[in-house]
Amino acid sequence: MRFLQLLALISTLIFALQGPTQGPAPIAQPLASPTPTPAPLPPATVKIDAYRVAAGRIIGAALTSDRAYSRLAHLTDHIGNRISGSKNLERAIEWAVAEMKRDGLDNVRAEKVMVPHWVRGEESLEMLTPVSRKLQMLGLGNSVGTPAEGVSAEAVVVRNFGELDRLGEQLRGKIVVYNVPFTDYGETVEYRLRGASRAARYGAVAALVRSITPVSLQTPHTGAMQYDANQPKIPVAAITIEVAEFLQRMNDRGDRPALRLRMEAKFLPDAESANVIAEVKGSEKPDEVVVIGGHFDSWDVGQGAHDDGGGCIVAWEAARLLKELGLRPRRTIRVVLYTNEENGLRGGNAYRDAHRAEIPKHVFAIESDSGVYRPEGFGLAATAPLQVRSNLQEIARLLSGIGSDRIAADGGGADIGPITREGVVGASLDVEGSHYFDIHHTPADTLDKVNPRELALCVAAMAVMAYTVADLPEPLTGR
Ligand SMILES: [Zn+2]
Repeated sequence: MRFLQLLALISTLIFALQGPTQGPAPIAQPLASPTPTPAPLPPATVKIDAYRVAAGRIIGAALTSDRAYSRLAHLTDHIGNRISGSKNLERAIEWAVAEMKRDGLDNVRAEKVMVPHWVRGEESLEMLTPVSRKLQMLGLGNSVGTPAEGVSAEAVVVRNFGELDRLGEQLRGKIVVYNVPFTDYGETVEYRLRGASRAARYGAVAALVRSITPVSLQTPHTGAMQYDANQPKIPVAAITIEVAEFLQRMNDRGDRPALRLRMEAKFLPDAESANVIAEVKGSEKPDEVVVIGGHFDSWDVGQGAHDDGGGCIVAWEAARLLKELGLRPRRTIRVVLYTNEENGLRGGNAYRDAHRAEIPKHVFAIESDSGVYRPEGFGLAATAPLQVRSNLQEIARLLSGIGSDRIAADGGGADIGPITREGVVGASLDVEGSHYFDIHHTPADTLDKVNPRELALCVAAMAVMAYTVADLPEPLTGR
């Protein structure tokens, strides 16, 4: 009998002797998850034994090379952040195309995409009364600007859309402040996306949104917002958690704080950009494709190191390593560095449109856009066929030695969304992301946050998975 079983037996006996009234208070059970119990998986139809040696070589090569990190260092330190339409993004694209050719990758090219060109300009937020103070802010991407003199008004703080709706017409002429604590990204980001238009519906003149993050060192987080075409467009900016709580205290004491928001944000005409593409051409079925990639654009603050310079380097380096090791799979591995994920998704959509005819030949698509932390495995779209899930779980066993063998119940990505909606099986490279939202879309997304070893592990996980799927003698679908 194992120690833990013995312990369990003893505690059961003690509990039985004490009787239920003296036992510990029952712990409230969490509500039943709405997710149905997953269907049992069919047995895998793929055989991975033939790939153990290759997987070992790939992992070894990734972990003993500093190429991924030094390339990310060039991208972040020498080029910098890369918002759509910027000179930096253009330079990054030119650099990647030249370097990929030097790497000896196949069919290296830039596929033209027109992208929105939003510029931030100068911006500031200050408290006018009851005290005069500068406040940390960062305009939200796609926001309109303010008149040159700014927008000055009383601030009203709400904790959620429910409070907003209850105040309703009382918000006319006010600056609405959303002080919404972070729960998870998908839920909380609604305030960044739709907060401005929801407030504009009641006549608010501007909106401020608490940054979408669980922690803050006075770090404001930008990100895309969307206007509702039926409401007036009002300027909107992110504020730090510290500023949101300060305004909340002022609000709750009845101080009626007055603020002035100044933003020069505006759109310039669409700019020319490109998706960067490079391949390891397949040896037997070159027309069948495994796509791997991330987005090359970033926000206009920080360096776009984790989001998503790192993700791009992971896909690129995975292909380069295979080339270096002489591992040419049966099918083609295609690296795509998508443009304009952050404020338009034009790159992902353009890829689908330009490659529409070959979409049925896309075997698998992996997106790396969750930061380049320690890889845990892959998040497979919930809609993926069970046989594919079973086969990927089998292949992922090749990564158990580096702890990256989990196939999560859900996954995917923004850039592969357009092709996965056309039926391509898609997955995300999943990482230990507990600190991602500390720095996401902030001036703090810089190279020093990237651990070279974790980056190398991401390369290894991506390369082993892509290579094996691309090389299988049988189809991933099992048919
Ligand atoms: Zn991203």
